[in-house]
Amino acid sequence: MSDAAPAAEYRIAAFGEDAGFLIPLRWSLNSDPEMTRRAPVLDRMNRNRVVRIVGWRRCLVCKAPFFSEDVRRNRLCGDPHAIQD
Ligand SMILES: [Zn+2]
Repeated sequence: MSDAAPAAEYRIAAFGEDAGFLIPLRWSLNSDPEMTRRAPVLDRMNRNRVVRIVGWRRCLVCKAPFFSEDVRRNRLCGDPHAIQD
């Protein structure tokens, strides 16, 4: 393991579509100013399969930092500017 980031702390989701998954606890932006840290959501019932990756990233529209629950798919901060077609 060459990743210098500290191991994520996790909670176990109790409800919803994430039930049973290990969910990394959100970390502070101050502790990750470059927004390079990433942590996997793991499905413990399925050999710890990686479900998605969470972490801080910058909104593609307004450039504001936000904590993304899926850094590959969720690239907008959620402000109304993101909901225009
Ligand atoms: Zn935004």
